[in-house]
Amino acid sequence: MNHIASPSASVVLPPKSRRERGQRLVALSGDWLRRHQRFIRWLQWTVVVVYAVLLVVPVFVPLPDGSAHIWNNISLFANFVFWGIWWPGVLISMVLFGRLWCGIMCPEGALSEMASRHSRGWTIPRWIRWPGWPFTAFVLTTVYGQMVSVYQYPGPVLLILGGSTVGAILVGYFYGRNHRVWCRYLCPVNGVFGLLAKLAPLHYRVDLQQWERCPPHAGRTTYVNCAPMVPLRTMESASPCHMCGRCAGFRDAIELSVRPPGSEIVTVSARTATVWDSLLIVVGLMGVAVGAFLWASSPWFITAKQWAAGWLVERGVFWPLEQDLPWWLLTSYPGNSDVMSLLDGVVLLGYVGMSAAVMSMAVGIPFAVAARILGPSWCGKHFHHLVHSLLPLAACGVILGLSAQSVTLLRGDGFSLNWVDDARIVALVCSAIWSLYLAWRIAGHYRNGVRRTVATGFGAVAIVAGILPWIMLFFVW
Ligand code: SF4
Repeated sequence: MNHIASPSASVVLPPKSRRERGQRLVALSGDWLRRHQRFIRWLQWTVVVVYAVLLVVPVFVPLPDGSAHIWNNISLFANFVFWGIWWPGVLISMVLFGRLWCGIMCPEGALSEMASRHSRGWTIPRWIRWPGWPFTAFVLTTVYGQMVSVYQYPGPVLLILGGSTVGAILVGYFYGRNHRVWCRYLCPVNGVFGLLAKLAPLHYRVDLQQWERCPPHAGRTTYVNCAPMVPLRTMESASPCHMCGRCAGFRDAIELSVRPPGSEIVTVSARTATVWDSLLIVVGLMGVAVGAFLWASSPWFITAKQWAAGWLVERGVFWPLEQDLPWWLLTSYPGNSDVMSLLDGVVLLGYVGMSAAVMSMAVGIPFAVAARILGPSWCGKHFHHLVHSLLPLAACGVILGLSAQSVTLLRGDGFSLNWVDDARIVALVCSAIWSLYLAWRIAGHYRNGVRRTVATGFGAVAIVAGILPWIMLFFVW
């Protein structure tokens, strides 16, 4: 979305308190970003080159054998960087800085916007604007990634991440102009990033009164091309904002600001939480993602597979046990003795589906009861709002799940990492307390007294249910 105002100087009074000085410093950081867009462009190209090398080169070298290490094998190194540093780091950055990654460093966003400069300018069709994409794309890529072992092999990484990048470039080339249509609507992690950004202590704040009284020729910047098409005047949430800084100082009404972490969830989410948010948090992050991280270590998966195999053998049906599919449909690396049969694939899908169903009920039902208690009658809005309190725990789980692969790699390379289990406990406990605090604040948004306390108690049940799978994965299995 493009915004234009006329230029002039603005009067900035010196800050008084330490808090005001801190805020002033943060606001200046936003202005710095706006004034250094060329530097950001260079940074983006650098990340694009690193990303391309890590994505493509491992596909053309032999798969690592037992003697390979992350420091002498590009495949293992890329694996470690992508799944151990890159993705957990990006998720942590969402919680700390909002979607700064998207606006400053994301290679897909940068390539999509570059393609959009030469776009055909087609109108964005309704199918692209469908609000269910963030949930659907996240679930499909998560499940498909497990089917092809994306955390282990370079081919699936190129297929999934590279395919997403090609999609971003094509959508940028055909739809909109100078915008990030892909990032706004179709990116598979757009929904997750948008939700995590709600927790961040940084956001671009719009002073509506200043906006309205800003005279002609005012503002530290006069033209804004907001690539993700955020309507600046009414921007309340950090979810769609890529924190690029281009609008800092626009009409002297927008600046990078500090806010209490999670405060957006308590207030703004009361109006903005949707059923798609709830599906992404409860079914996606707390269900499908949990199943995807757990199945490979789960004794229940082995039991289910053995039972299904026995059942088939008893009936003389062998082909599902022998049939293997191409690596891009189901893991198939005979050289590494890593081949999934059709039965493995079906049991994997069943395990992830069952995990999603069980976790959705274990987490969703207590929040549904809590929403009913907050009353006066059942209210879907209350439910969706309460579910947002799970975001700290959901984020923590996904970050721990992603980093587990790297912990395994590093331990295999001789690093003891004895502190990891303690760090996991601390992270889970802290995120659970943060979630509980948010549930208490959200319940207080609607009721006080006994109803608020009981509703928070049901929230605590959901939070405990959300922790259990991680305890099983890290400390029981
Ligand atoms: S609202 Fe748009 S222009 Fe402003 S910082 Fe966010 S993404 Fe950039």
